[in-house]
Amino acid sequence: MTEREELFARIRAVQKNLAEASEGRYPVPRLIAVTKTHPVEMILPLREAGVLDIGENRVQEMMEKLPALQSGAPAENFRLHLIGRLQTNKVKYIIKDVHLIQSVDRMKLAREIDRRAQQAERRVPVLLQLSPVGEPQKGGLPMADAEAFLREAARLPGLEVRGLMAVMPLTDGGAEAQQWLTELFRGMRQTFERLRDLAIEGIHMEELSMGMSGDYLLAARCGATMVRVGSAIFGPRGSAHNG
Ligand SMILES: *Cc1c(COP(=O)(O)O)cnc(C)c1O
Repeated sequence: MTEREELFARIRAVQKNLAEASEGRYPVPRLIAVTKTHPVEMILPLREAGVLDIGENRVQEMMEKLPALQSGAPAENFRLHLIGRLQTNKVKYIIKDVHLIQSVDRMKLAREIDRRAQQAERRVPVLLQLSPVGEPQKGGLPMADAEAFLREAARLPGLEVRGLMAVMPLTDGGAEAQQWLTELFRGMRQTFERLRDLAIEGIHMEELSMGMSGDYLLAARCGATMVRVGSAIFGPRGSAHNG
């Protein structure tokens, strides 16, 4: 198989697994292909596989890739999701082009997005990143602060909260770890539903972004609406292909 055929085969495998994992209970989650560290030549073929949502975790890298990724017809353009920690002073660089900022984890950042979005005459969709285990260094607002955040964010005209995002802790993959992860995913889903059921005006709780290469099946079974998958599609980072 050529490199491209291998890429397509891995994408098909992930999509098949997702369809099976979410069977019945929840809709099949949308696949966000995490393209960080991979060159645009590796990303462009995703279009042919019907994968247009891509995730980058660094502003600089996203900006470098952007012209090549948005050079096609509008319907073919990639939708860029920012999934990594975002510094307030970098918001201005991505505000026009980003499709969804998944990593909003503090009010100061929300306010800066609001300000820049209004200047750009946009309403920018964002997700509130929550910390499933209360490890703030990994990013994410504590669960207990989510409701107050949403009530305040609902008053910012430049951004639109569309749901929640979480990054799970790394585990050794053993049976106990799987059990723990399952509880964390379920807890996120419950929090998502509870916040959705508050029906806060101006907040649209539709997306729950959770699950990566190691645990996206579990996430799908627990009700993720988006999974962010990198290495299961592109291979391990560090061994990135160069085109
Ligand atoms: C890198 C990254 C992913 C994808 O990780 P893989 O294990 O390669 O699938 C998902 N979410 C975030 C926030 C990331 O930084």
